[in-house]
Amino acid sequence: MCGIIGIVSNKPVTSNIIQSLKKLEYRGYDSAGIATIVNGNIDEKKCTGRVDNLEKILFKYPSAGFLGIGHVRWATHGIPSQINAHPHSSDEVSVVHNGIIENSNQLKKDLEKKGYKFKSQTDTEVITVLLTDFLKHFDLISSINKTLKKLNGSFALGILIKKHKDIVVGARRGSPLAVGYGPEENYLGSDSYALKSMTNRITYLDDGDVCILTNSKIEFYNSKNQKVNKKVLTLSNDKNTAEKGDYKDFMSKEINEQHITTKTCIKEYVDQLRQDINLYSFPIKPENIKKIILIGCGTAYHSCFMAKYWFEEMMSIPIEIDIASEFRYRKIKFDKKNLYVFVSQSGETADTFAALDLCKKNNVKTCSIVNAVESSIARHSDFVLPIHAGPEIGVASTKAFVGQMLVLYILGIKISEIRKEISKENYLKKINELKQLPDLIKLTLKCQDKIQIIAKDFLNAKGVMFLGRGFSFPIALEGALKLKELSYLHAEGYPAGEMKHGPLALIEEGLPVIILAPKDRYFEKTISNMQEVIARGGKVILITNENRNVISENVRFTLKIPNADEYLTPFLMTIPLQLLAYHVASLKNYDIDKPRNLAKSVTVE
Ligand code: GLU
Repeated sequence: MCGIIGIVSNKPVTSNIIQSLKKLEYRGYDSAGIATIVNGNIDEKKCTGRVDNLEKILFKYPSAGFLGIGHVRWATHGIPSQINAHPHSSDEVSVVHNGIIENSNQLKKDLEKKGYKFKSQTDTEVITVLLTDFLKHFDLISSINKTLKKLNGSFALGILIKKHKDIVVGARRGSPLAVGYGPEENYLGSDSYALKSMTNRITYLDDGDVCILTNSKIEFYNSKNQKVNKKVLTLSNDKNTAEKGDYKDFMSKEINEQHITTKTCIKEYVDQLRQDINLYSFPIKPENIKKIILIGCGTAYHSCFMAKYWFEEMMSIPIEIDIASEFRYRKIKFDKKNLYVFVSQSGETADTFAALDLCKKNNVKTCSIVNAVESSIARHSDFVLPIHAGPEIGVASTKAFVGQMLVLYILGIKISEIRKEISKENYLKKINELKQLPDLIKLTLKCQDKIQIIAKDFLNAKGVMFLGRGFSFPIALEGALKLKELSYLHAEGYPAGEMKHGPLALIEEGLPVIILAPKDRYFEKTISNMQEVIARGGKVILITNENRNVISENVRFTLKIPNADEYLTPFLMTIPLQLLAYHVASLKNYDIDKPRNLAKSVTVE
């Protein structure tokens, strides 16, 4: 969360900082700000809300300067306001920060005793004041080290210092940070996506690293304060996929390209000629795995949930799922024969990374499923499986969720085959069916017009329930999350059979209830649960398969998805739920790509 950019150049940098901040806006949009050094002084400009507002301010009051830092905020400490917007500057230094300084209250008190006054309610401002104080007595490197030593918690920092008017300083612990190399200029950024329009040569900082950028070189210091050389990576050129094209927003593009992203992913993993799945170098021999534990947050957790249902059908070993923010603090009994799988779109999710780190400290084998292959989670796990979905910019995840499920499913098929838990015949059948998935998704996307009509019904709803059994239950959870994220409606996903144990009390006249009832072994039971809802006044939207004829006069809408193998049906069920969340939010005129209070790449706890 929060986006950081820094540029040191031999020409004015403001406009490039603004353009990069626009790219980083998906990470935070509570406020935006920039600081440059102009005529030897720090020139800070900031505002609440979007980068567009900052751009207007800069249009009126331009800021020159050949080096600068910029920030888009996702507030953790202090309301979104101009005063709390980053950068936080003194006369001497200016700081942008991603993360949380956990001991900021104590540090603030200590600094106030020394006579310092604070302008904002943020945790970040203590960094500015500490550094200002140390610079009075020590040289640059010592001051930075002494400041960082005082901080507990997580940070990625971009720093300008008045006395050192040719450098930008970067530092990280816990939150991601990268540098980029350009022609007679260098960059600092929260992620490679922000830097990509300027360079494809980047280096990721490791935990505890500090870097010093001038327009001609970048120096790195590790956590022991030793000067180190670091590897320069050349990024692949997938700029085009991060453009909206003719779509109104990124989310509609990302929903509507899922047949393409799944096709790309299948191509990466399925060898068409040999009819085999290309997965080698497992960190543990699949035959020896005792248990699989799948860990994620939010949507990624729901993909783990889905995989649990699939894996349990395909394998004879126990499958557990866990929410990363809980896993990391529990007394987990680690076992070297278990495989720990981590799912994260950005690969930077702080809780997931901490859970992975815990596994590494306990010497167990880890596998990560990510969209960003250069991410911290990918770099620190034993086995990486990219989802090949291309950049996902909409804050609410759509194509990445489908990609995560797809890779988990492919992993499950392969492990089952190696363990000889599914027959060769069944293995080949599953591979062949998988190849149909992109076309089935394309066909399902055609339900868009119907969903637009159904969405109108949700405008005055107080809440919504999503019910499913078996493979449809994890999808019900994800459908509810999507609606919450985008339309700010209270939505609950429930196992349909669980309703009578409590949640049925919520059903009242007109409450929309989405019933996921594909043609599977639970169909009749789910339909009975649907009748129980209808009997209590619920307004039912039934999603089923094409060849199912459910005649019920009291069903408000029936939406049919294409017939498919029961393992592939969850992918198809997901599409109408994504579209529903999208169209309800769109009718309410909400910001689709940047829902309130949220941000992508959740790099704080
Ligand atoms: N903790 C800082 C703040 O609230 C930075 C949050 C972020 O990472 O965006 O301002």
